[in-house]
Amino acid sequence: MFDSIVGQPWAVAYLSRAAAADRLSQTLIFHGPPYVGKESTALALATWWLCDHGRGCGTCTACRQVAGYQHPDLHYVFPCPAPWYENPEQIGEIVAQRALPEHRLGEPVADPNLSISIEAVRTMIRASARSAFGGKAKVFIVRGADRLREEAQNAFLKLLEEAPRNVHIILLTTSLERMLPTVRSRAYQVRFTALSKPDWITVFRALTAAEPEKAESLFRLSGGSLARAAGLLQEDHTLRHLPLALLRNAERQAGAWAATVFEQMGSRLEREDLDRLMDSALLWIRDILVWRTTGNEGLLTNRDALAEIADVAEGCDPAHLMLLISEVESLRQAARLNLDPRLVCHRLERLLLSNRRTGGYR
Ligand SMILES: [Zn+2]
Repeated sequence: MFDSIVGQPWAVAYLSRAAAADRLSQTLIFHGPPYVGKESTALALATWWLCDHGRGCGTCTACRQVAGYQHPDLHYVFPCPAPWYENPEQIGEIVAQRALPEHRLGEPVADPNLSISIEAVRTMIRASARSAFGGKAKVFIVRGADRLREEAQNAFLKLLEEAPRNVHIILLTTSLERMLPTVRSRAYQVRFTALSKPDWITVFRALTAAEPEKAESLFRLSGGSLARAAGLLQEDHTLRHLPLALLRNAERQAGAWAATVFEQMGSRLEREDLDRLMDSALLWIRDILVWRTTGNEGLLTNRDALAEIADVAEGCDPAHLMLLISEVESLRQAARLNLDPRLVCHRLERLLLSNRRTGGYR
């Protein structure tokens, strides 16, 4: 059941042994650095109790429902605004998103000030008292278990003390020392360790489908933080596609959208980012020019965006594209000579938008 867990041999060995010997504590605490596999391991362990074919086969309906956060006896709890617990649909939506790999690299609700409210704990208590849908067990996975609100603590202890025997509670935390001593003393603690570089790259690529070299460089740039690396990857994607969006200028919003992005990014873009932005702009313009003049797909750099390239090329004047290339190249030179990044972004934006404005409409 732990086949997909990478880089946590100790935790996996312990849990497999304890499960096989039926010695798992009713309440477990998984603690360790963020994004090293605590939640994935908790989900895998949940299949041990909920599987249709006995023990975490990974292929039955129940196992697949657990992996997709959809099993009716799996309760996923996380810090979120208290009123949400009176409107389960809102929670349901967030939990459904959680099943998508790209939504696993971050908090379900990105607000470090949120905590687990008394309403959330009361919901857990009510759920624990109902009989299990599948007739077997109920599993609670509590993310951010160190962020329990003060007024919720007593109710939470009551849950731990009085939960029926078929209720299993897995608490996830990055900060064991911030958890209540009374909670800690009632649970078995399983430590998760930081991932080695090769393991980190394996996990990151499984979640984002990044190229190996990209993953390698993001490992360095992010200091080994998966969440930060995912953010950088997203930014990279934006840097690559922004110039095309401006060149297309297809949607009326394109200009405003790009201006906002530039406004946000312009002030903190590093020199290398600016360089990549210009390179990407030049490659798009070149592709459009090549397609306009040769119609040969094999000569394009961004072959995956053929439809967009063809669309822009349709209304373009090759002479204007040539001019654009030399303008962007001189802007790149200026950027390297210490021109203010925001000014560079602004000029690039104007240049790329000019494509449709002054370019020939034939
Ligand atoms: Zn199964």
